[in-house]
Amino acid sequence: MSSTSIYLDSAGSTPVHELVARAALESFSATYGNPSASHIEGLRARRAIDAASEHVARGLGCSSAELVWTSGGTESNNWALFGSAPSASSGHLIVSAIEHKSVLNAARELERRGHALTVLPVTEAGAVRPADLERALRPNTFLVSIMLANNETGVIQPWREIGALCRAAGVRLHCDAVAALGKLPLDVARLGCDLLSLSGHKLYSPKGCGVLYVRSGIELAPLIHGCGQQCGRRNGTENTSGAVGLGRAFELLTQGEFDGLRSPRLRDELRDALRAVVPDAIENGCEPRLPNTLSMAFPGFRASALQAELAARGVSVGTGAAAASGEASHVLSAMGIDTERARSTLRFTTGLYTDASHVAGAAEALREACAALRSGSAVAAQR
Ligand code: PMP
Repeated sequence: MSSTSIYLDSAGSTPVHELVARAALESFSATYGNPSASHIEGLRARRAIDAASEHVARGLGCSSAELVWTSGGTESNNWALFGSAPSASSGHLIVSAIEHKSVLNAARELERRGHALTVLPVTEAGAVRPADLERALRPNTFLVSIMLANNETGVIQPWREIGALCRAAGVRLHCDAVAALGKLPLDVARLGCDLLSLSGHKLYSPKGCGVLYVRSGIELAPLIHGCGQQCGRRNGTENTSGAVGLGRAFELLTQGEFDGLRSPRLRDELRDALRAVVPDAIENGCEPRLPNTLSMAFPGFRASALQAELAARGVSVGTGAAAASGEASHVLSAMGIDTERARSTLRFTTGLYTDASHVAGAAEALREACAALRSGSAVAAQR
């Protein structure tokens, strides 16, 4: 395997920022005590977690008491859904067809347990229609769960309308903001959500650490039972160094360190450069989109083969959810994109360390990869 020199999969995960790594590493030796213990080491760890919560709270415009540390986006999403489901009666929940599998599969499990489920379709452009949501709401709807932006296409969902509809109907609203983190402002009051999921490794912080924002007054049954940590809301000893890392990342976010993530310049240059190599490449999804995300189909090519050829040339890109298994992405299918086009789609996501030389390098690698696949001399296939 070639050692990567051009990383274009920031939506998959991000490298840990140097200052975040320093803070997290220091915490391994400085705040190692059990944060629930009342001795000096425990109190130090507690204070470090509380300080991290304050940084995240400032970034979201909420109180730190409304934040609960989790193991990441998957747990936060699962908890939002399972914790909201009524246990005594069967209720109804609404999700969109383009949610991350940690929402979709949790919703399907709730359906299996007797709740009614509405999966909202999306437009060809990849967005939920507010009118569909309005029609789907029922008197027993206990939760609407819709992402702020999609992780495969970057398409930003019409959250102003979604928030207003749920508020007017008095229905609890969960926002999966994992893909949007760092790229869009995340003000929970403006979004009008009751629950919001985040994951540290999408913001230059360690993996295995995330947050669920739980609006004050919202009751959420615990998903993980245990010794009463985090006021019994999420049991288990907190991941102190993960929290310290994510707290530091939020501090950097507030200070403008990640402002570059909000510019589409390199993504657009990349799109133009790739199109110059493959003129019939098709972009999936329309604006408004995350500024770092480019979902592009290369007709006539298999995404898995192209990805392998690019990897052999030191360029790392993402594919749809289940490319390895040959399954078409559920997100692209929901947009009405046919299986062939979906199977030829790659996801390119720029990040903090992407520069113009990476754009040129990726385009050159694509030129070589396409030529190799066309001539049957593919490097990856021969290994
Ligand atoms: N939601 C979205 C939109 C995501 O992109 C991801 C990560 N791919 C998750 C949830 C899950 O987060 P984690 O990797 O922290 O479990």
